[in-house]
Amino acid sequence: MMIMSASPGLRIGPSDKVFVLTGAGISAESGIPTFRDANGLWCGYRVEDVASPGAWARNPQLVWRFYSMRRRGALTCKPNAGHVALAALEHELDDRFFLCTQNVDNLHEQAGSRRLVHMHGELLKSRCDSCDRQPFEDTALFESTVPRCECGGQLRPHIVWFGEMPLEMERIAQELERCTMMLVIGTSGLVYPAAGFVSMVRERQASTDGGVRTIYVGPEEPANSRAFDQCCLGTAAQVLPGLITVD
Ligand code: NAD
Repeated sequence: MMIMSASPGLRIGPSDKVFVLTGAGISAESGIPTFRDANGLWCGYRVEDVASPGAWARNPQLVWRFYSMRRRGALTCKPNAGHVALAALEHELDDRFFLCTQNVDNLHEQAGSRRLVHMHGELLKSRCDSCDRQPFEDTALFESTVPRCECGGQLRPHIVWFGEMPLEMERIAQELERCTMMLVIGTSGLVYPAAGFVSMVRERQASTDGGVRTIYVGPEEPANSRAFDQCCLGTAAQVLPGLITVD
């Protein structure tokens, strides 16, 4: 693995297909704290008290209050140069680009990204905890009672809590299978299954001739750094804008 403090200038060839994975770090420069920056607490709460099915069963009001606080914060944030660079790359590559984000904010969409999935859900959507109603846009902030669906069930934030299954895993598996380059940005390499994606594509690399290039971008090496060909040390907004050239 090569560690670089300056951007190495990655070239994307005409047959390359790029899989991008982003984590909380890409939104840090937009003012949304990462989990780590908050010392394992989110807005002063322990994760197990607000981000698990057990927490929802015990105290849905507290869970709603917590996610309303995060909604309020996210509503005023704007994408940074890192989000913008990824949207521009998608524009050039079209269906040779795929973005999987662990983030629940909508800063990638605000920057113009369209070919993306939110594997941990979306903060500005809600869904019913009882019926099959599709998740819907919701920027409402919590008042005094937990909102109800027309079916009578409780509405919950459209968030994948600890212990729940991430979303869109089939689509993600297909894109992991076809990519020739993986670019991972601002994630600690500790939260699975996302932290295992880079090893999955490296296993593929071992069994095929082509080889998948794996690159990490962030201010420090992630826990799974050994699985990357290169780690570009720097922030997303500093490194991404000059990182890639499309041939
Ligand atoms: P994490 O908080 O565990 O790790 C953040 C990573 O980002 C660290 O490795 C850090 O070095 C890196 N980082 C910090 N500033 C950066 C910058 N300016 N540019 C690039 N990288 C930077 O986050 P995680 O690994 O994504 O996992 C925590 C879980 O919490 C995930 O599900 C995550 O999506 C969720 N979360 C989401 C948001 C959001 O939606 N914006 C915010 C906090 C946590």
